[in-house]
Amino acid sequence: MQLLQVGPTFPKTPFLISKSSPNGGVVGILSSKKLSLLYDTNHSLASSHRHERCKWASLNQSISSSISTKAASVDAGAPAISPVTAEKDVLAALSEIIDPDFGTDIVSCGFVKDMNIDESMGEVSFRLELTTPACPVKDMFEEKANEVVAKLPWVKNVNVTMSAQPAKPVFAEQVPMGLRTISNIVAVSSCKGGVGKSTVAVNLAFTLAGMGARVGIFDADVYGPSLPTMVSPENRLLEMNPEKRTIIPVDYLGVKLVSFGFAGEGRAIMRGPMVSGVINQLLTTAEWGELDYLVIDMPPGTGDIHLTLCQVVPLSAAVIVTTPQKLSFIDVAKGVRMFSKLKVPCIAVVENMCHFDADGKRHYPFGRGSGSQVVEQFGIPHLFDLPIRPTLSASGDSGIPEVVADPQGEVSKTFQELGVCVVQQCAKIRQQVSTAVTYDKSIKAIRVKVPDSDDEFLLHPATVRRNDRSAQSVDEWTGEQKLKYNDVPEDIEPEDIRPMGNYAVSIDWPDGFCQIAPYDQLQTIERLVDVPQPAPV
Ligand code: ADP
Repeated sequence: MQLLQVGPTFPKTPFLISKSSPNGGVVGILSSKKLSLLYDTNHSLASSHRHERCKWASLNQSISSSISTKAASVDAGAPAISPVTAEKDVLAALSEIIDPDFGTDIVSCGFVKDMNIDESMGEVSFRLELTTPACPVKDMFEEKANEVVAKLPWVKNVNVTMSAQPAKPVFAEQVPMGLRTISNIVAVSSCKGGVGKSTVAVNLAFTLAGMGARVGIFDADVYGPSLPTMVSPENRLLEMNPEKRTIIPVDYLGVKLVSFGFAGEGRAIMRGPMVSGVINQLLTTAEWGELDYLVIDMPPGTGDIHLTLCQVVPLSAAVIVTTPQKLSFIDVAKGVRMFSKLKVPCIAVVENMCHFDADGKRHYPFGRGSGSQVVEQFGIPHLFDLPIRPTLSASGDSGIPEVVADPQGEVSKTFQELGVCVVQQCAKIRQQVSTAVTYDKSIKAIRVKVPDSDDEFLLHPATVRRNDRSAQSVDEWTGEQKLKYNDVPEDIEPEDIRPMGNYAVSIDWPDGFCQIAPYDQLQTIERLVDVPQPAPV
């Protein structure tokens, strides 16, 4: 078995879909669309901004053209092989490639699609469908897949195509309509204002876009929206689609933006729901289209607005922004606790304005260590430091995010590492959530792996069904048990189990009942200890 290494550096290819041409060259598919978008935008921009954007776009283009597909060496004396053996050979070879995030081989991960083998000609083609177009190890997957299949003695030519799964949440049915084509929603949060939360949110979003992902930013700060000063789209007003009653986001360099600051005074969308519900309305009625990542710039604090937002929106993960002062630790702890209650995993802490360099020395004006204290105490695995940089402040005010203005600078490198972390953690969370509760037919037991914990146990399906706490099973007012023990057959089996965010699963039973079972509740149910063994075949 071979383990792929993930480098800490920025992924080399921002555009995912590549196809080898007959002569072994590479044709970008996704890239051309996205690049033309970038260039179209560039052409219409003020000349002072043009240079910066072109730099960003051309960096992406040069990176994308570095993708290469290896052709297998021709072996004239290749042995004859049956179609079944040929497919087995290819799958066995591909299963040597391990996804470093999931710890599972790419065949078991279900990445291999559209396998086409002409064993008489020694030709093999297949597609690797990854979970995100911004996968930081996609180049390695492509290269390794070519290499391991080309090594098979009967193979003369390998054609690997890379693609990404269509954007959708893991648990689409429970999500408001407008958000059903978004794969991951990442909250960028801080407990105090002025710590650089919006700066981090915007630069993270443009970093993810630079990695090849389809990205949106939602600025959830109704009272002090900062997104409008940090970007410079040509059209700065949200449009209404009167027929569909939806809001069309503002577009800047291919990233979709929605902010109260783009609503424009006196516009229809501001009148009715001015006070309550405005955030939810903006967020859920926006025409986001397919997005791999929606970055939400949360308002500062941990108040009601956060709870409402977290209830409406299925947040995949949160990134916490803080400054190094000792007092910040207390605030950050509050934020981590809030997300933990809402079952939203905090995947990274960004400690902003940590240091600056002057007179050949590094200075830490606010002291050191509150970020690492958060990481240690709350077990958040990733900490990123950002320096105090006049350019970061200036780029925020000039309307060009730092990662666009200076894509190869020190700050952009930190954002690239943060971007890789977000991509990897979101993929892991999706995987964990979708495999957290499964039905093992061979032992007639429901297997529960609690997300973010090592706890794994088995439950008897009938016991799970009997423990339903919904109004159909328990009287809401009196607490009287309506569902009787014998109402549930001992041998009942679930028909389907689907995750609902990070907190619950929905289970379909053969009698048509759909049970919502929170993990907290599953953890309290009597577990199967004497696990029935699978019947001998
Ligand atoms: P928040 O969203 O937490 O209120 P902002 O991102 O709006 O904070 O940042 C507040 C101000 O600080 C902005 O003017 C921004 O440009 C500036 N700023 C943020 N981070 C840095 C940094 N690392 N170096 C210099 N200025 C920064």
